[in-house]
Amino acid sequence: MAELIDELRWKKFPVLNDGFVCLVDVMGDDGSVVQAARVSYGAGTRQVSDDRTLIRYLMRHRHSTPFEMAEIKFLVRVPMDCWRQWIRHRTANVNEYSTRYSVAIEAMQATEPTEWRTQAESNRQGSGSPLPEDVGRQLSEDEVAFQRAARDLYEHRLSVGVAREQARKDLPLCTYTEAYWKIDLHNLLHFLALRMDSHAQAEIRDYATTIGEQIVRPLFPLVWEAFCDYRAEGMTLTRLDIGVIQRLQQRILQLPAGAKPGDDDFLAVQDEAWRPLTRSRERDECRQKLQRLGILPL
Ligand SMILES: Cc1cc2nc3c(=O)[nH]c(=O)nc-3n(C[C@H](O)[C@H](O)[C@H](O)COP(=O)(O)OP(=O)(O)OC[C@H]3O[C@@H](n4cnc5c(N)ncnc54)[C@H](O)[C@@H]3O)c2cc1C
Repeated sequence: MAELIDELRWKKFPVLNDGFVCLVDVMGDDGSVVQAARVSYGAGTRQVSDDRTLIRYLMRHRHSTPFEMAEIKFLVRVPMDCWRQWIRHRTANVNEYSTRYSVAIEAMQATEPTEWRTQAESNRQGSGSPLPEDVGRQLSEDEVAFQRAARDLYEHRLSVGVAREQARKDLPLCTYTEAYWKIDLHNLLHFLALRMDSHAQAEIRDYATTIGEQIVRPLFPLVWEAFCDYRAEGMTLTRLDIGVIQRLQQRILQLPAGAKPGDDDFLAVQDEAWRPLTRSRERDECRQKLQRLGILPL
């Protein structure tokens, strides 16, 4: 474990064009979670398979406090718009680079011509398909010119004696910031579950996925496995979803042999509360779950 930590520590895992995440310190491992759960036994008294079973039980049943016994400290470099989402997670300890004390980091998030995304049609918050590359090329050129102009204005203000705290006011949100970010494993997994999810913005998803795959997975292999199985890649069925599945099951029995249920069948057995609604997010989510389960066609 000590060797693995030495190997990971201070290694900068790149994210976006100039961002990174890096492990600074870690306290604990899979064994710390197990030890906390079995407070009276101590480590090393059980087989690894027992540890795995216990961790999986704790994760499945959301017995969360043993996961709080491990802590991880990161150094991260993140564009400010992404950081604004990140910092909403209040259960971490944070120290951020100060642009009152220091000149702002001279790095801004650049967008490749192929990376510009359309506004999602189905979701007010998300992105849709990529924009055509020729449109993207122009947008990326404009971005470079705008970022250069914003930086020049900032540096001009500093050069004529404006205070750093005031000169920064027109720096764009794509400017990178750096921070130490320390969090316990339970709250880190909560952050990862929300921010690795497909509903999160692509940029913060890249950071969360890098933290999860590159740092948490090797340091906490049993916890990571349980987290993927029961949280990140699992699915929650609501009472309403279960009702739909039960009614759909009955309906499938009445279909001609070999026929597969379609969207008409789904709509016929939907929850009564959704029926009068032209658009229902909950109905859409239920449909997506049934598609993922292979009960309805994609
Ligand atoms: C896809 C997505 C879209 C979002 N859209 C928006 C948006 O449009 N507008 C917006 O403002 N935010 C938005 N958010 C932010 C979101 O509402 C949360 O603020 C953020 O995800 C942090 O979650 P959290 O509070 O659970 O995490 P943390 O702050 O890390 O807290 C972890 C847990 O600790 C507990 N906790 C922490 N602090 C308190 C407290 N003071 N009181 C009680 N319990 C506490 C809660 O159980 C909480 O779940 C979005 C988040 C996501 C993932």
